Amino acid sequence: MKRILITGAAGFLGSHLSDRFITEGYDVIAMDNLLTGSMSNIEHLMPLPNFTFYNHDITKFIHIPGELDYILHFASPASPIDYLKMPIQTLKVGALGTHNVLGVAKAKQARILVASTSEVYGDPLEHPQSEEYWGNVNPVGPRGVYDEAKRFLEAITMAYHNFHKVETRIIRIFNTYGPRMRMDDGRALPTFFSQAMNNQDITVFGDGQQTRSFCYVDDLVDGIYRLLKSDYHLPVNVGNPIEITIQQAAEEVVALTQSQSKIINTALPEDDPKVRQPNIAKAKEILNWEPKISREEGLRRTYEYFQTITQ
Ligand code: UDP
Repeated sequence: MKRILITGAAGFLGSHLSDRFITEGYDVIAMDNLLTGSMSNIEHLMPLPNFTFYNHDITKFIHIPGELDYILHFASPASPIDYLKMPIQTLKVGALGTHNVLGVAKAKQARILVASTSEVYGDPLEHPQSEEYWGNVNPVGPRGVYDEAKRFLEAITMAYHNFHKVETRIIRIFNTYGPRMRMDDGRALPTFFSQAMNNQDITVFGDGQQTRSFCYVDDLVDGIYRLLKSDYHLPVNVGNPIEITIQQAAEEVVALTQSQSKIINTALPEDDPKVRQPNIAKAKEILNWEPKISREEGLRRTYEYFQTITQ
């Protein structure tokens, strides 16, 4: 049986990855310090003999007994309000935490895939964003703590690849949504669902003409699985290239939930990227991957989940 370590396993993406690797027959070592993750995301896995959970902060030395074949490094606060509240932890997990997991990969001769982000492109001046674009990031702005932590993560991962010959994979994840997002994580879609389901005003920041491209979580997980199994070590964008305005996203949530909520416009946060759309040519060519789940279907499944947790 292959063994895989998943950091951030109690989070939104980490828990879906844990499900996928359990389904594929792996022995899953799950690690999380529950800063933003929740045991409720993985409690269904806890009784399984091939699932082991460690409550551990990966910025501290990581001790894993036995052999490891793979590592997925997904630990980090990832929503803007989370990393604004926890700037130091965000920088530490991206820097010290990544250093520690790369150390584990080297010691165990395990292949490691690290979670990077479209935020490395900042408020992009190239559109759509391809992997060759170097980005437009404000290091001292409010998002700098996350963006620069993830840029450091990419740099140290490449250094371990080049210098220590560790087998590394880097994924740049664009906006993703689905069941197990926290309704209060501050991101656009869960916030809009929460507001719509409680008949509160829907807060669209700015004029709502900024764009994002939303990928359903199952599609993303499949992209991660394929990248881990590929032999490609440079960064790969994985996301849904269908781009919409935030105003449209709000309107779709209101329509789906048949809410009486009004959409109102409030202040746009500092350094909020105006556009975001992945160029996925590389993922298509190298991974033979593209998203399959329509937004209509994805939003319906997400709404079903939010209904179950609010009942
Ligand atoms: N947004 C919004 N209302 C909210 C939350 C977010 O209009 O209640 C906007 C936010 O300003 C951004 C977009 O929705 O332009 C996506 O924000 P999110 O926090 O989901 O993630 P980001 O892509 O900015 O990291």
